[in-house]
Amino acid sequence: MNSKLKEPIICLLLPCYNEEAIINYSVQEMLKLITRLIEEHLISDQSFLCLVDDGSKDNTWFYIDLFTKESKYVRGIKLSRNYGHQSALLAGITQNVNKCDAVITIDADLQDDIEVIPEMISLYLKGIEIVYGVRDKRDTDSWFKRNTAKVFYKLMIKLGVNIIENHADYRLMSKNAINNLLSFKESNLFLRGMIPLIGLKSENVYYNRKERLAGETKYPLRKMISFAIDGITSFSTKPLRMISVLGLILFLITVCLNIYALYSFLTSDVLKGWTSIVLPLYFLSGFQLLAIGIIAEYVGKIYKETKKRPSFFIEEELKNK
Ligand code: UDP
Ligand code: MG
Repeated sequence: MNSKLKEPIICLLLPCYNEEAIINYSVQEMLKLITRLIEEHLISDQSFLCLVDDGSKDNTWFYIDLFTKESKYVRGIKLSRNYGHQSALLAGITQNVNKCDAVITIDADLQDDIEVIPEMISLYLKGIEIVYGVRDKRDTDSWFKRNTAKVFYKLMIKLGVNIIENHADYRLMSKNAINNLLSFKESNLFLRGMIPLIGLKSENVYYNRKERLAGETKYPLRKMISFAIDGITSFSTKPLRMISVLGLILFLITVCLNIYALYSFLTSDVLKGWTSIVLPLYFLSGFQLLAIGIIAEYVGKIYKETKKRPSFFIEEELKNK
């Protein structure tokens, strides 16, 4: 074991948006966990809980302020307005990367089981850079949420996005992994898709997701759909390629139809005017989709270039001392 990693400083990061109903419970639970882990010498006494207020309209910040005064283990960050879950996570990670050895992000409602945190830290101590919290069963979710999530993950994987099924934003990231993540320059954030792109050593820990104890979900159906569309369009140009392929197929079919129309015109007594109508109709519709497909190929290239994603990440460098 790397002696430098002994008793690491861990930052437990909770994004909070209008969470006044549950924040007190969550902070008390997290503080119990932190003190236990410090006593067990699993983490350093410098470890802390960081609450990011994502522009809440209720009293969330008031409580965060109170907790920071009551406990030396609590810190708070207030964003200027509501930026959304993903940006709140990124803000917290960016602000804390130089103050700790690893960050664990978890939703403020503690639906994800905090009892696997010691396991995450043990894996980190063994040299794992990213530990994903993965839901074992989804029996606390509604039938609808369970199945729509399943379709979403399957679709993402089909579209070539490297995503971990049933993993949300509950994960541990080492300082090294975070520094790599921070070199992504994209503004459409879909952390679940970006983090597996980093590579590095990673492991999953499994847990059962609980029901939300208080407050309500900040992800109604409308937001879930928009999150899914953002996820797909931020990671895959396959839908564009599908247009090209479809355009080509349609174009070939219309060529055949045109030959048929001409053949009928020359050999049989077709209705007057029919050929002159169907020929351009077939030709133009096939040709148009093909043309859009060709443009889509270039749009796909521009899309990739504008992301300015890093071309590689280095896991380790060896040097003769
Ligand atoms: N959240 C946030 N900004 C938002 C929406 C949500 O920081 O604009 C936080 C929220 O406070 C919670 C986490 O994101 O900590 C996940 O939200 P929620 O638990 O409502 O989602 P669900 O579990 O229902 O998918
Ligand atoms: Mg939740």
